Amino acid sequence: MKIVTRFAPSPTGYLHLGHAYSALINFDQARAAQGRFLLRIEDIDQIRCRPEYDAAIFEDLSWLGLAWEDLVLRQSERMAVYEARLADLQDRGLVYRCFKTRKDIEQAMSAPHDAPVGAFRSVPLAALEERDNLLEGKPYAWRLSLSEAAKALGDGFSDLSFIEETKGGSTKTPADVERFGDVVLGRKDSGTSYHLSSVLDDAEQRVTHVTRGEDLREAAGLHALLYALLDLTPPVYRHHPLITGDDGKRLAKRDQAATLRAMQERGLTPDDVKALLP
Ligand code: GLU
Repeated sequence: MKIVTRFAPSPTGYLHLGHAYSALINFDQARAAQGRFLLRIEDIDQIRCRPEYDAAIFEDLSWLGLAWEDLVLRQSERMAVYEARLADLQDRGLVYRCFKTRKDIEQAMSAPHDAPVGAFRSVPLAALEERDNLLEGKPYAWRLSLSEAAKALGDGFSDLSFIEETKGGSTKTPADVERFGDVVLGRKDSGTSYHLSSVLDDAEQRVTHVTRGEDLREAAGLHALLYALLDLTPPVYRHHPLITGDDGKRLAKRDQAATLRAMQERGLTPDDVKALLP
């Protein structure tokens, strides 16, 4: 089997040391196995994505010495695919419309790195109420129904897991999908979500190994559920420790000093950056 890895940043800020870490691990893993390394631009959030961040991804990764395959998948160009797959889930009764306001659902659709606190679960509205909401033009999101997913998968639901490679070998990690509640798969604004698009794209691009920060370990459990429901083959995962700033907190895009751009401006070389990584 040829190893296929990927780096999938969102152009919502400049890449920082944590991104460099993920990108380099994926790149090195593919290169060591004479596999393929792909770049994917996760730009579904058209409000937060900016062209200058998009361009900077290519410049900063090149500066680091990475090379990726020519074909760069852009999620904004695949909206019709996400819509079609979401429509399949609708036909199968696995998702339902949720008219809750932004404030209600804020937690549920927060950054993929933080599992929502107090996971939200609900049921579809009664047909008449739903019709009224639709007639009023109220916006809605599509939520995955965990109870319908459990019915669809039968025994497979409680056995959901993902394969994780650690230093000690390969482990089967049980998926804790309940912690996500009825997660939003089709957002009100974009019609899709990180979880749905990422799973569909990793399958489409035949990605075999996904390495990302350990803040996304729990998300791999949710993704295991989506792979099972969509009848797709999941990748193997590796999770790396998070790079923290001077305050001990995980780096975020707002930490300007840790961006590759700022480091470059301070005169650091790619080797200096690599030396800062664990
Ligand atoms: N676009 C996501 C991010 O930047 C990708 C996460 C992933 O690798 O699946 O965090």
